[in-house]
Amino acid sequence: MSSYVSTRDSDIRVNASEAILKGLSDEGGLFMLDEIPSLPLEEMIGMDFQSTAKVILKAMLSDFTQDEINTCVEQAYTNKFETNECTPIVSVGDRYVLELFHGPTSAFKDVALSILPRLMSLAKKKNKTQEEIIILTATSGDTGSAALNGFSDVDGIRIIVFFPDQGISATQRAQMVTCNGKNVSVCAVKGNFDDAQSGVKTIFTSPETKKLSESRKLLFSSANSINIGRLIPQMVYYFKSYANLVNKGDILPGEPVNFAVPTGNFGNILAGYMAKLSGLPIAKLICASNSNNVLTEFLHSGVYDMRRNFLRTLSPSMDILLSSNLERMLYLSTDRNPTTINRYMNELYHHGYYQVDDSIKNKIDETFYSGFCSDTETLETIGNVYRDEDYLMDPHTAVAWKVSEDFKNAQINFHKTIVLATASPYKFAHSVLIALNQDGSGDEFSIIRRLHKLTGSPIPKNLIDLENMEVRHNSVIEKEDMAHYVFTKVGEQTW
Ligand SMILES: *Cc1c(COP(=O)(O)O)cnc(C)c1O
Repeated sequence: MSSYVSTRDSDIRVNASEAILKGLSDEGGLFMLDEIPSLPLEEMIGMDFQSTAKVILKAMLSDFTQDEINTCVEQAYTNKFETNECTPIVSVGDRYVLELFHGPTSAFKDVALSILPRLMSLAKKKNKTQEEIIILTATSGDTGSAALNGFSDVDGIRIIVFFPDQGISATQRAQMVTCNGKNVSVCAVKGNFDDAQSGVKTIFTSPETKKLSESRKLLFSSANSINIGRLIPQMVYYFKSYANLVNKGDILPGEPVNFAVPTGNFGNILAGYMAKLSGLPIAKLICASNSNNVLTEFLHSGVYDMRRNFLRTLSPSMDILLSSNLERMLYLSTDRNPTTINRYMNELYHHGYYQVDDSIKNKIDETFYSGFCSDTETLETIGNVYRDEDYLMDPHTAVAWKVSEDFKNAQINFHKTIVLATASPYKFAHSVLIALNQDGSGDEFSIIRRLHKLTGSPIPKNLIDLENMEVRHNSVIEKEDMAHYVFTKVGEQTW
């Protein structure tokens, strides 16, 4: 039975359900399958989304039974997405766009966060865990709403979401602060996403948390993409989209393709890398960043350097300087060498940067291409693609489109390219309207209606409904007070 190991200590081994329950390994490492199984791509040609998910999840999460996986998949995806296909692929110009935003909160994170709570609930039963699970999550916007939606009123689990007070869209904020559910708590933090994320990481590893967990029988876990249960469901749409193109006759079985991925915490693209390692014919994974281009620099130079200013961009869900899942990629690129990973992560922690060896850099170059896209280029891209191809995209998707354009012009290969669309344009309606040279004044909902009037593109229902929902969460705290907030909250009987 395949098991999971920590990227920082190969003696720490757990099975899939434990890895999902814990989120992060005790010493700070991330869990990765000790061996990535090869997946039967041929069998998936012609399969629907749910059947594909059942095959992939069973292979990757081996201590769950097939029946358990099937139930989770059906509960997570039946009638929960706007389209039966969940993640439809459409042809746009000379590329394809894989639409990952038809879930309950209109962003790609819904794909994994619709199923993670169910896997976690089951993992709790399988491991006879007595503790109450407390999910702590820092969000750059989309994780929070998708996680709140997924975990809302799930038994035996409570969830606390921290979001940066500045730098998320009005719609994202509204989705979170209106969230219902007796087990959800939402709090704004004065600071940026990295502040919120470091705050959560500190809480996870603090001795005080450990003491509290023992005395109150709590188990702190994470719904961020440091949880392997977030990454594995994302492998499904890589396989599904490829199988779709084979099925349509657009590519031959085995023909390599490129995927262009708008990247922040490196979770989406890492699922693509795992898909490649399990046999999906991927030529290049195109890592697209916004002006917070720390990943672009790293993939070009081999130096990861966080000593720079954090910028707020029009693609806020990618405004990140510390890209957590890069650690998993490095682990896989160093032939799973925890000593090397510890060295790099220590250097990053103490000095703010590290440089990988040439051999690792070369290995990374085989698979990854990278580039970035400024805000001006993002707006231009949205405008151009709408004018030339009659396709409306959100700013995150536009970043990936633009970098895939640069990739095409660099003539690295001529394989077909699939651009991952990670949010509905209506989730970032203000920027999209500006990109179409329209007046961007007024509140978020009038903007959404204007964008609809202009383009005729359908508005996701969950976004229309937001307007009339009551704000339930008003807390705004200093980043130093996050631990205090959590310790107080867990002591309250009702939320
Ligand atoms: C989270 C998010 C991203 C970045 O995904 P990562 O897995 O963090 O790399 C890109 N676009 C949108 C809309 C997102 O919500």
